Amino acid sequence: MYRVTTDVPPARTVCHGCRQTTQFRADSGEVRPMIIPGSGMVIREKSPGVLVEESCPVCGESDDPGWVPGFVPPA
Ligand SMILES: [Zn+2]
Repeated sequence: MYRVTTDVPPARTVCHGCRQTTQFRADSGEVRPMIIPGSGMVIREKSPGVLVEESCPVCGESDDPGWVPGFVPPA
């Protein structure tokens, strides 16, 4: 389970190409955004109803998919 953005180690930043954002409700009832680091793959809809998984154009060739130096997570 991934943690919220503020828990991402500062030395690594998440890929902007294949990451996803979602929301979760904390115990207090507060809704917070959550970043899911990319897996190196993106889902693309080639034609209506046909989803294909492709290598992420940003980090798919990386040795460490999902994490690319130089990107900065949103505040
Ligand atoms: Zn990526």
